[in-house]
Amino acid sequence: MADEFPFEISPMFEGERIRKDGMYAELAGPKSKGFELVRAADMDDVEDGKFTLIGPDISDMEEGSRHPLAMIYKIAGELVEADLESIVERRNHEFQNYIQGFMHLNQRDDVWMRVSKEAVEKGLTSFESVAKAIMMLFKNELPFIEKVEAIYITDMDEIEKEIDNAREVYKARDDRTRDLHDEDVDTFYGCTLCASFAPTNVCVVTPDRISLCGAINWFDGRAAAKVDPEGPQFAIPKGDVIDEESGEYTGVNEAAERLSSGEYDRIKLHSFFEYPHTSCGCFEVVGFYIPEVDGIGWIDRDFAGTAPNGLQFSTMAGQTGGGKQVVGFLGVGVNYFRSPKFIQSDGGWNRVVWMPKMLKDKVLNDIPEDIRDKIATEEDATDVDSLRTFLKEKDHPILERWVEEEEEAPEEEEEAETAPQAQGGFTAPQMMQMPSNMPSMPMMSGGGSGGVKVILKNAKVSIDKVIIKKQD
Ligand code: SF4
Repeated sequence: MADEFPFEISPMFEGERIRKDGMYAELAGPKSKGFELVRAADMDDVEDGKFTLIGPDISDMEEGSRHPLAMIYKIAGELVEADLESIVERRNHEFQNYIQGFMHLNQRDDVWMRVSKEAVEKGLTSFESVAKAIMMLFKNELPFIEKVEAIYITDMDEIEKEIDNAREVYKARDDRTRDLHDEDVDTFYGCTLCASFAPTNVCVVTPDRISLCGAINWFDGRAAAKVDPEGPQFAIPKGDVIDEESGEYTGVNEAAERLSSGEYDRIKLHSFFEYPHTSCGCFEVVGFYIPEVDGIGWIDRDFAGTAPNGLQFSTMAGQTGGGKQVVGFLGVGVNYFRSPKFIQSDGGWNRVVWMPKMLKDKVLNDIPEDIRDKIATEEDATDVDSLRTFLKEKDHPILERWVEEEEEAPEEEEEAETAPQAQGGFTAPQMMQMPSNMPSMPMMSGGGSGGVKVILKNAKVSIDKVIIKKQD
Protein backbone atom coordinates (compact mmCIF):
# COMPACT_ATOMS: atom_id res chain seq x y z
CA MET A 1 0.00 0.00 0.00
CA ALA A 2 2.92 2.31 0.78
CA ASP A 3 3.88 2.01 -2.93
CA GLU A 4 1.20 4.55 -3.77
CA PHE A 5 3.24 7.30 -2.12
CA PRO A 6 6.06 9.25 -3.79
CA PHE A 7 8.26 8.76 -0.73
CA GLU A 8 9.42 6.03 1.58
CA ILE A 9 7.78 5.60 4.96
CA SER A 10 9.79 4.09 7.78
CA PRO A 11 10.69 4.71 11.44
CA MET A 12 14.31 4.86 10.28
CA PHE A 13 13.68 8.40 8.95
CA GLU A 14 12.62 9.66 12.38
CA GLY A 15 15.98 11.22 13.16
CA GLU A 16 16.21 12.95 9.77
CA ARG A 17 16.95 16.66 10.03
CA ILE A 18 16.29 19.04 7.13
CA ARG A 19 18.68 21.98 7.29
CA LYS A 20 18.05 25.30 5.60
CA ASP A 21 20.16 24.56 2.54
CA GLY A 22 18.34 21.27 1.89
CA MET A 23 14.89 22.69 2.56
CA TYR A 24 12.28 23.23 -0.16
CA ALA A 25 9.66 24.84 2.09
CA GLU A 26 9.22 25.61 5.75
CA LEU A 27 5.77 25.14 7.25
CA ALA A 28 4.47 26.82 10.44
CA GLY A 29 7.32 27.20 12.96
CA PRO A 30 8.41 30.19 15.04
CA LYS A 31 8.34 32.63 12.11
CA SER A 32 4.90 31.62 10.88
CA LYS A 33 1.75 30.04 12.30
CA GLY A 34 0.16 26.64 12.51
CA PHE A 35 -1.19 23.90 14.69
CA GLU A 36 -2.18 20.25 14.76
CA LEU A 37 -5.46 19.13 16.21
CA VAL A 38 -7.26 15.81 16.45
CA ARG A 39 -10.98 15.77 17.24
CA ALA A 40 -13.12 12.80 18.12
CA ALA A 41 -16.31 12.82 16.05
CA ASP A 42 -19.41 10.72 15.47
CA MET A 43 -19.12 8.02 12.84
CA ASP A 44 -21.58 9.84 10.56
CA ASP A 45 -19.53 13.03 10.69
CA VAL A 46 -16.36 11.51 9.28
CA GLU A 47 -15.84 10.60 5.64
CA ASP A 48 -13.14 7.97 5.83
CA GLY A 49 -9.99 8.83 3.88
CA LYS A 50 -11.24 12.24 2.73
CA PHE A 51 -8.64 14.99 2.37
CA THR A 52 -9.36 18.70 2.08
CA LEU A 53 -6.78 21.40 1.44
CA ILE A 54 -7.56 25.05 2.08
CA GLY A 55 -4.83 27.23 0.55
CA PRO A 56 -1.82 26.59 -1.67
CA ASP A 57 -0.30 23.13 -2.11
CA ILE A 58 3.42 22.28 -2.03
CA SER A 59 3.54 22.52 -5.83
CA ASP A 60 2.36 26.15 -5.58
CA MET A 61 5.16 27.06 -3.17
CA GLU A 62 8.45 28.57 -4.22
CA GLU A 63 11.71 26.91 -3.26
CA GLY A 64 13.00 28.32 0.04
CA SER A 65 9.64 29.85 1.02
CA ARG A 66 7.80 29.76 4.34
CA HIS A 67 4.07 29.09 4.82
CA PRO A 68 1.60 28.57 7.63
CA LEU A 69 0.18 25.08 8.06
CA ALA A 70 -2.62 23.70 10.22
CA MET A 71 -3.53 20.01 10.27
CA ILE A 72 -6.91 18.90 11.57
CA TYR A 73 -7.85 15.24 11.77
CA LYS A 74 -11.35 13.99 12.60
CA ILE A 75 -11.39 10.46 14.00
CA ALA A 76 -14.28 8.11 14.76
CA GLY A 77 -14.76 4.61 16.07
CA GLU A 78 -16.66 2.70 18.71
CA LEU A 79 -13.80 3.09 21.20
CA VAL A 80 -12.85 6.62 20.20
CA GLU A 81 -13.35 9.18 22.97
CA ALA A 82 -12.17 12.75 23.52
CA ASP A 83 -9.44 11.61 25.94
CA LEU A 84 -7.70 9.88 23.02
CA GLU A 85 -7.36 13.05 20.94
CA SER A 86 -3.98 14.09 22.43
CA ILE A 87 -2.57 10.62 22.01
CA VAL A 88 -3.46 10.51 18.33
CA GLU A 89 -2.24 14.08 17.89
CA ARG A 90 1.15 13.09 19.30
CA ARG A 91 1.36 10.28 16.76
CA ASN A 92 1.06 12.87 13.97
CA HIS A 93 4.51 14.04 15.06
CA GLU A 94 5.88 10.52 15.01
CA PHE A 95 4.29 9.44 11.73
CA GLN A 96 5.16 12.59 9.78
CA ASN A 97 8.76 11.95 10.75
CA TYR A 98 8.47 8.46 9.20
CA ILE A 99 8.15 10.19 5.80
CA GLN A 100 11.46 10.53 4.04
CA GLY A 101 12.11 14.19 3.34
CA PHE A 102 9.49 15.52 5.75
CA MET A 103 10.44 16.79 9.20
CA HIS A 104 8.01 17.53 12.05
CA LEU A 105 9.07 19.23 15.28
CA ASN A 106 7.20 20.15 18.47
CA GLN A 107 3.46 19.89 19.04
CA ARG A 108 0.10 21.63 19.21
CA ASP A 109 0.39 25.29 18.09
CA ASP A 110 4.20 25.11 18.23
CA VAL A 111 4.51 22.70 15.29
CA TRP A 112 7.29 23.33 12.80
CA MET A 113 7.71 21.31 9.61
CA ARG A 114 10.05 21.27 6.65
CA VAL A 115 9.92 19.45 3.35
CA SER A 116 13.22 18.74 1.63
CA LYS A 117 14.27 19.67 -1.92
CA GLU A 118 15.11 16.04 -2.60
CA ALA A 119 11.65 14.87 -1.57
CA VAL A 120 10.00 17.43 -3.87
CA GLU A 121 12.25 16.31 -6.74
CA LYS A 122 11.09 12.75 -6.11
CA GLY A 123 7.43 13.77 -6.29
CA LEU A 124 6.35 15.02 -2.86
CA THR A 125 4.49 17.94 -4.37
CA SER A 126 1.15 17.62 -2.61
CA PHE A 127 -0.01 17.63 1.00
CA GLU A 128 -2.55 15.03 -0.03
CA SER A 129 0.10 12.31 -0.11
CA VAL A 130 1.35 13.35 3.34
CA ALA A 131 -2.16 13.36 4.84
CA LYS A 132 -3.07 10.03 3.20
CA ALA A 133 0.11 8.43 4.57
CA ILE A 134 -0.70 9.71 8.06
CA MET A 135 -4.29 8.49 7.86
CA MET A 136 -3.04 5.07 6.74
CA LEU A 137 -0.62 4.90 9.67
CA PHE A 138 -3.28 6.06 12.14
CA LYS A 139 -5.56 3.22 11.10
CA ASN A 140 -2.78 0.62 10.96
CA GLU A 141 -1.19 1.51 14.29
CA LEU A 142 -4.22 2.68 16.27
CA PRO A 143 -6.90 0.10 15.56
CA PHE A 144 -9.51 1.94 17.62
CA ILE A 145 -9.67 4.47 14.77
CA GLU A 146 -12.25 3.16 12.33
CA LYS A 147 -12.65 6.31 10.24
CA VAL A 148 -10.38 9.32 9.75
CA GLU A 149 -10.56 12.47 7.67
CA ALA A 150 -7.91 15.20 7.26
CA ILE A 151 -8.15 18.93 6.62
CA TYR A 152 -4.91 20.81 5.97
CA ILE A 153 -4.90 24.61 5.87
CA THR A 154 -2.15 26.75 4.38
CA ASP A 155 -4.18 29.94 4.07
CA MET A 156 -3.17 32.38 6.83
CA ASP A 157 -6.62 33.98 7.20
CA GLU A 158 -8.24 30.58 7.66
CA ILE A 159 -5.61 29.56 10.21
CA GLU A 160 -6.17 32.79 12.14
CA LYS A 161 -9.85 31.90 12.30
CA GLU A 162 -9.21 28.35 13.56
CA ILE A 163 -6.22 28.74 15.87
CA ASP A 164 -8.13 30.18 18.83
CA ASN A 165 -10.50 27.24 18.72
CA ALA A 166 -7.52 24.86 18.78
CA ARG A 167 -6.04 26.73 21.77
CA GLU A 168 -9.38 26.46 23.60
CA VAL A 169 -9.30 22.70 23.06
CA TYR A 170 -5.71 22.43 24.38
CA LYS A 171 -6.64 24.54 27.41
CA ALA A 172 -9.73 22.49 28.21
CA ARG A 173 -7.60 19.33 28.11
CA ASP A 174 -4.96 20.84 30.39
CA ASP A 175 -7.51 22.21 32.84
CA ARG A 176 -8.96 18.76 33.45
CA THR A 177 -6.06 17.72 35.66
CA ARG A 178 -6.21 20.81 37.90
CA ASP A 179 -8.34 19.20 40.60
CA LEU A 180 -6.61 15.84 40.51
CA HIS A 181 -3.30 15.25 42.29
CA ASP A 182 -0.64 12.57 42.57
CA GLU A 183 -1.93 11.48 45.97
CA ASP A 184 -5.44 10.91 44.55
CA VAL A 185 -4.44 8.09 42.19
CA ASP A 186 -2.58 4.81 42.47
CA THR A 187 -1.48 4.60 38.83
CA PHE A 188 0.73 6.89 36.79
CA TYR A 189 1.36 6.49 33.05
CA GLY A 190 4.53 6.07 31.02
CA CYS A 191 5.26 6.86 27.38
CA THR A 192 8.03 5.48 25.19
CA LEU A 193 7.38 7.44 22.02
CA CYS A 194 10.67 9.32 22.42
CA ALA A 195 12.73 6.19 23.07
CA SER A 196 13.84 6.03 19.43
CA PHE A 197 16.11 9.06 19.85
CA ALA A 198 16.39 9.08 23.65
CA PRO A 199 16.78 5.40 24.57
CA THR A 200 17.20 5.89 28.33
CA ASN A 201 14.30 8.34 28.60
CA VAL A 202 11.74 7.53 31.28
CA CYS A 203 8.64 9.61 30.68
CA VAL A 204 6.27 9.52 33.63
CA VAL A 205 2.97 11.37 33.43
CA THR A 206 1.10 12.04 36.67
CA PRO A 207 -1.84 14.28 37.58
CA ASP A 208 0.64 16.88 38.87
CA ARG A 209 3.20 16.46 36.10
CA ILE A 210 2.24 16.73 32.44
CA SER A 211 4.59 15.13 29.89
CA LEU A 212 7.67 17.09 28.84
CA CYS A 213 6.28 17.56 25.35
CA GLY A 214 3.20 19.12 26.95
CA ALA A 215 0.95 16.97 24.79
CA ILE A 216 -0.02 14.15 27.14
CA ASN A 217 -1.65 14.52 30.52
CA TRP A 218 -2.68 11.86 33.02
CA PHE A 219 -6.16 11.43 31.49
CA ASP A 220 -4.66 11.01 28.02
CA GLY A 221 -2.22 8.39 29.32
CA ARG A 222 -5.05 6.53 31.00
CA ALA A 223 -7.24 6.55 27.89
CA ALA A 224 -4.37 5.34 25.67
CA ALA A 225 -3.36 2.58 28.06
CA LYS A 226 -6.97 1.42 28.22
CA VAL A 227 -7.45 1.00 24.47
CA ASP A 228 -3.96 -0.33 23.77
CA PRO A 229 -2.18 -1.58 26.93
CA GLU A 230 0.72 -2.92 24.83
CA GLY A 231 1.17 0.42 23.06
CA PRO A 232 3.61 3.26 23.77
CA GLN A 233 1.50 4.60 26.66
CA PHE A 234 1.08 2.23 29.59
CA ALA A 235 0.24 2.11 33.27
CA ILE A 236 2.92 2.51 35.93
CA PRO A 237 1.64 1.35 39.32
CA LYS A 238 2.63 4.07 41.78
CA GLY A 239 3.75 1.66 44.48
CA ASP A 240 4.74 2.98 47.90
CA VAL A 241 5.54 6.57 48.67
CA ILE A 242 9.25 6.99 49.48
CA ASP A 243 9.10 10.76 49.72
CA GLU A 244 5.98 12.73 48.91
CA GLU A 245 7.68 16.15 48.83
CA SER A 246 10.12 15.26 46.07
CA GLY A 247 7.69 12.80 44.44
CA GLU A 248 9.61 9.55 44.82
CA TYR A 249 7.65 6.30 44.52
CA THR A 250 8.75 2.66 44.43
CA GLY A 251 6.69 1.99 41.28
CA VAL A 252 8.30 4.87 39.39
CA ASN A 253 11.79 3.77 40.44
CA GLU A 254 11.10 0.23 39.24
CA ALA A 255 9.78 1.57 35.93
CA ALA A 256 12.84 3.84 35.62
CA GLU A 257 15.18 0.88 35.94
CA ARG A 258 13.23 -1.15 33.42
CA LEU A 259 12.71 1.60 30.84
CA SER A 260 16.25 2.98 31.00
CA SER A 261 17.77 -0.54 30.82
CA GLY A 262 19.34 -0.07 34.21
CA GLU A 263 20.80 3.40 33.58
CA TYR A 264 18.58 5.01 36.22
CA ASP A 265 16.85 3.50 39.22
CA ARG A 266 15.58 6.60 40.97
CA ILE A 267 13.42 9.46 39.76
CA LYS A 268 12.04 12.21 41.92
CA LEU A 269 9.16 13.70 39.99
CA HIS A 270 9.17 17.12 41.64
CA SER A 271 12.88 17.61 42.14
CA PHE A 272 15.23 19.76 40.07
CA PHE A 273 18.56 18.78 41.58
CA GLU A 274 18.26 15.30 42.99
CA TYR A 275 17.42 12.37 40.71
CA PRO A 276 15.42 14.63 38.39
CA HIS A 277 13.09 13.36 35.68
CA THR A 278 14.96 12.47 32.50
CA SER A 279 14.73 14.89 29.55
CA CYS A 280 14.15 13.48 26.06
CA GLY A 281 14.34 16.43 23.67
CA CYS A 282 10.65 17.23 23.08
CA PHE A 283 10.38 19.40 26.19
CA GLU A 284 8.73 22.77 25.76
CA VAL A 285 10.91 24.52 28.34
CA VAL A 286 14.38 23.97 29.81
CA GLY A 287 15.20 24.87 33.38
CA PHE A 288 18.82 25.76 34.13
CA TYR A 289 20.66 26.35 37.36
CA ILE A 290 22.41 29.72 37.70
CA PRO A 291 25.11 29.12 40.32
CA GLU A 292 26.01 32.81 40.67
CA VAL A 293 22.62 33.50 42.26
CA ASP A 294 21.76 29.97 43.37
CA GLY A 295 18.51 30.23 41.43
CA ILE A 296 16.80 28.51 38.54
CA GLY A 297 15.98 30.11 35.20
CA TRP A 298 13.60 28.74 32.54
CA ILE A 299 13.78 29.26 28.79
CA ASP A 300 11.30 28.11 26.15
CA ARG A 301 11.53 27.31 22.46
CA ASP A 302 9.88 30.54 21.39
CA PHE A 303 12.51 32.75 23.00
CA ALA A 304 15.26 33.44 20.49
CA GLY A 305 17.47 35.54 22.77
CA THR A 306 20.04 34.49 25.34
CA ALA A 307 19.42 33.77 29.00
CA PRO A 308 21.50 35.51 31.71
CA ASN A 309 23.99 32.63 31.54
CA GLY A 310 24.77 33.68 27.95
CA LEU A 311 23.15 30.62 26.38
CA GLN A 312 20.21 30.19 24.02
CA PHE A 313 17.44 27.61 24.22
CA SER A 314 18.98 25.46 21.48
CA THR A 315 22.34 25.23 23.28
CA MET A 316 20.79 24.29 26.59
CA ALA A 317 18.37 21.88 24.91
CA GLY A 318 21.37 20.10 23.40
CA GLN A 319 22.92 19.87 26.85
CA THR A 320 19.69 18.61 28.42
CA GLY A 321 18.21 16.18 25.89
CA GLY A 322 18.90 12.59 24.96
CA GLY A 323 16.94 10.88 27.73
CA LYS A 324 19.45 11.71 30.44
CA GLN A 325 19.05 12.71 34.05
CA VAL A 326 21.06 15.93 33.87
CA VAL A 327 21.47 17.61 37.22
CA GLY A 328 21.35 21.36 36.75
CA PHE A 329 19.09 21.21 33.69
CA LEU A 330 15.51 19.98 33.40
CA GLY A 331 13.10 19.72 30.48
CA VAL A 332 9.42 20.26 31.29
CA GLY A 333 6.06 20.92 29.63
CA VAL A 334 4.64 24.45 30.06
CA ASN A 335 1.73 23.10 32.04
CA TYR A 336 4.06 21.85 34.78
CA PHE A 337 4.36 25.51 35.86
CA ARG A 338 0.69 25.26 36.82
CA SER A 339 1.28 22.26 39.07
CA PRO A 340 1.02 22.86 42.82
CA LYS A 341 4.00 20.50 43.12
CA PHE A 342 6.22 22.42 40.67
CA ILE A 343 9.84 21.58 41.72
CA GLN A 344 8.56 21.66 45.27
CA SER A 345 11.51 19.83 46.80
CA ASP A 346 13.84 22.61 45.64
CA GLY A 347 11.80 25.57 46.80
CA GLY A 348 9.19 25.74 44.03
CA TRP A 349 8.59 29.25 42.71
CA ASN A 350 10.83 30.76 45.41
CA ARG A 351 13.79 29.28 43.55
CA VAL A 352 12.81 30.74 40.15
CA VAL A 353 14.76 33.87 39.22
CA TRP A 354 14.41 34.36 35.47
CA MET A 355 12.05 33.55 32.55
CA PRO A 356 11.47 35.08 29.11
CA LYS A 357 8.64 37.63 29.29
CA MET A 358 6.35 35.77 26.90
CA LEU A 359 6.63 32.58 28.93
CA LYS A 360 6.13 34.44 32.20
CA ASP A 361 3.02 36.16 30.83
CA LYS A 362 1.65 32.81 29.70
CA VAL A 363 1.74 31.38 33.23
CA LEU A 364 1.45 34.65 35.16
CA ASN A 365 -1.74 33.73 37.00
CA ASP A 366 -0.14 30.52 38.24
CA ILE A 367 2.86 32.27 39.78
CA PRO A 368 2.21 32.96 43.47
CA GLU A 369 1.29 36.63 43.77
CA ASP A 370 4.01 37.49 46.28
CA ILE A 371 6.79 36.47 43.86
CA ARG A 372 5.31 37.49 40.50
CA ASP A 373 7.18 40.80 40.27
CA LYS A 374 10.40 39.36 41.67
CA ILE A 375 11.10 37.03 38.76
CA ALA A 376 13.23 38.80 36.16
CA THR A 377 12.69 38.64 32.40
CA GLU A 378 14.97 39.67 29.53
CA GLU A 379 13.64 43.21 30.08
CA ASP A 380 15.06 43.26 33.61
CA ALA A 381 18.24 41.21 33.37
CA THR A 382 20.40 40.09 30.47
CA ASP A 383 23.40 38.74 32.38
CA VAL A 384 24.21 37.51 35.86
CA ASP A 385 25.32 40.93 37.10
CA SER A 386 22.06 42.62 36.17
CA LEU A 387 20.11 39.60 37.43
CA ARG A 388 21.80 39.80 40.79
CA THR A 389 21.06 43.52 41.03
CA PHE A 390 17.41 42.96 40.10
CA LEU A 391 16.95 40.19 42.65
CA LYS A 392 18.45 42.39 45.36
CA GLU A 393 16.27 45.35 44.43
CA LYS A 394 13.14 43.21 44.48
CA ASP A 395 14.12 41.41 47.69
CA HIS A 396 13.59 38.04 46.00
CA PRO A 397 13.31 35.16 48.54
CA ILE A 398 16.48 33.69 47.00
CA LEU A 399 18.39 36.34 48.98
CA GLU A 400 17.77 34.31 52.12
CA ARG A 401 19.82 31.52 50.60
CA TRP A 402 22.67 33.92 49.84
CA VAL A 403 22.83 35.01 53.47
CA GLU A 404 22.82 31.42 54.69
CA GLU A 405 25.49 30.38 52.21
CA GLU A 406 27.74 33.36 52.84
CA GLU A 407 27.54 32.65 56.57
CA GLU A 408 28.45 29.03 55.93
CA ALA A 409 31.51 29.75 53.81
CA PRO A 410 34.19 31.53 55.90
CA GLU A 411 36.97 29.22 54.70
CA GLU A 412 36.28 30.04 51.08
CA GLU A 413 36.74 33.73 51.80
CA GLU A 414 40.31 33.06 52.83
CA GLU A 415 40.92 31.00 49.71
CA ALA A 416 39.50 33.81 47.61
CA GLU A 417 42.42 36.03 48.24
CA THR A 418 44.49 33.87 45.94
CA ALA A 419 41.74 32.40 43.73
CA PRO A 420 41.38 33.41 40.08
CA GLN A 421 38.27 35.30 38.97
CA ALA A 422 35.39 32.88 38.47
CA GLN A 423 32.55 32.80 35.93
CA GLY A 424 30.39 35.83 35.36
CA GLY A 425 32.89 38.21 36.94
CA PHE A 426 32.29 36.97 40.46
CA THR A 427 35.11 35.88 42.69
CA ALA A 428 34.89 32.42 44.21
CA PRO A 429 33.10 33.36 47.45
CA GLN A 430 30.53 35.35 45.51
CA MET A 431 29.61 32.26 43.53
CA MET A 432 26.91 30.45 45.42
CA GLN A 433 27.64 26.94 46.50
CA MET A 434 26.61 24.33 43.98
CA PRO A 435 24.22 21.64 45.16
CA SER A 436 26.34 18.70 46.23
CA ASN A 437 25.39 16.50 43.29
CA MET A 438 25.83 19.11 40.54
CA PRO A 439 28.29 18.09 37.85
CA SER A 440 31.56 19.81 38.51
CA MET A 441 32.50 22.80 36.38
CA PRO A 442 36.29 22.81 36.37
CA MET A 443 37.92 26.12 35.57
CA MET A 444 41.25 26.58 33.88
CA SER A 445 42.99 29.87 34.04
CA GLY A 446 45.42 31.12 31.48
CA GLY A 447 47.72 32.35 34.24
CA GLY A 448 47.97 35.02 36.86
CA SER A 449 48.11 37.95 34.47
CA GLY A 450 46.68 38.41 31.00
CA GLY A 451 46.23 35.44 28.66
CA VAL A 452 43.01 33.61 27.89
CA LYS A 453 40.65 32.10 30.43
CA VAL A 454 39.08 28.82 29.35
CA ILE A 455 36.06 27.51 31.26
CA LEU A 456 35.17 23.87 30.70
CA LYS A 457 31.61 23.05 31.72
CA ASN A 458 30.62 19.47 32.55
CA ALA A 459 33.91 18.25 31.10
CA LYS A 460 35.80 15.16 32.13
CA VAL A 461 39.54 15.55 31.73
CA SER A 462 41.68 12.43 31.77
CA ILE A 463 45.46 12.68 32.02
CA ASP A 464 47.76 9.73 31.26
CA LYS A 465 50.88 11.21 32.76
CA VAL A 466 51.87 14.31 34.72
CA ILE A 467 55.51 15.40 34.70
CA ILE A 468 56.49 17.99 37.27
CA LYS A 469 59.85 19.68 36.66
CA LYS A 470 61.64 22.14 38.88
CA GLN A 471 61.82 25.56 37.22
CA ASP A 472 65.30 27.15 37.40
S1 SF4 B 1 7.84 13.62 25.78
FE1 SF4 B 1 7.15 11.81 26.85
S2 SF4 B 1 4.92 11.83 26.61
FE2 SF4 B 1 5.76 13.22 25.07
S3 SF4 B 1 6.00 11.91 23.25
FE3 SF4 B 1 7.96 11.92 24.35
S4 SF4 B 1 7.92 10.09 25.63
FE4 SF4 B 1 5.80 10.53 25.01
